[in-house]
Amino acid sequence: MKCRQCQQSAVIKMERHNTSLCRGCFNLYVHDQVERAITEEKMFDRAESVLVAVSGGKDSLALWDVLIKLGYRTAGLHLNLGINDYSQISQEKVEAFAESRGTELIVHAYQEAYGLGVIEIAEETARPACSACGTMKRYHFNRIAMERGFPVVATGHNLDDEASRLLGNVLQWQEEYLEKQSPVLSDEGGTWARKVKPLFRLAEREAAAYAVLNRIDYIVDECPMSKGAKMLVYKDVLNRLEETSPGTKHRFYLGFLKRPRALPSGPKELHLHPCQSCGQPTPGEVCGFCRLMQRVAR
Ligand SMILES: [Zn+2]
Ligand SMILES: [Zn+2]
Repeated sequence: MKCRQCQQSAVIKMERHNTSLCRGCFNLYVHDQVERAITEEKMFDRAESVLVAVSGGKDSLALWDVLIKLGYRTAGLHLNLGINDYSQISQEKVEAFAESRGTELIVHAYQEAYGLGVIEIAEETARPACSACGTMKRYHFNRIAMERGFPVVATGHNLDDEASRLLGNVLQWQEEYLEKQSPVLSDEGGTWARKVKPLFRLAEREAAAYAVLNRIDYIVDECPMSKGAKMLVYKDVLNRLEETSPGTKHRFYLGFLKRPRALPSGPKELHLHPCQSCGQPTPGEVCGFCRLMQRVAR
């Protein structure tokens, strides 16, 4: 198998682009897709400091690597969820990566901060683990970004993540979620850190190939709590469709982004004010995170 660009031996075949690429040309392709996502969606520019949320998995570390190589100003944020060995190994991978690149890394450990890991917090509040974890993550990404002066938070969500989430939202007709499913969530005039997903044009296997080809040492295990999650079923369904019809995920998600938005007036105003407990912006009196922690305290 030869590279379509330069005739050297190819390392990856990409059916959806009907092409095969060598290591060098594949890296150029990945950098180009990420740069295109950032500029076309107006995610951030080279003057802004980007806080990259890094779990230690392939996607977030690949994202951080690409952003560094493209010359963006970045620091990493790792949340240690307190899930035994899984969290410890994840943190070690992130620390090793940051050290090898000489970049700033912020680590926030739930166990140290709250005396509990995310599983215990979910159990004490009778919330499904992934739902409590999502509330905790969103809260900390935003709070730490605002406290440390980062206007932007980038996460490693890839095309497969976004397409499967879209499929789930469409199957349930979760219209309010559909409106929010964008690779950029605005900062609401500086109330929030802007949330961006610069890998949304890259398939999961492309992100994985990039990590392997660039010798990025990541944690291979998925989160032990995600087993049986509905999202994995949607991913599997989309992979089967992709096999028979390459490009399905791309057409599904990018087609969704291109369509005129259902609400011509844009997202409805949130009327945010400071949380009575922690001061973070919230549409209610007390933010979701503080409500969660109040239930733990009881
Ligand atoms: Zn090539
Ligand atoms: Zn709060």
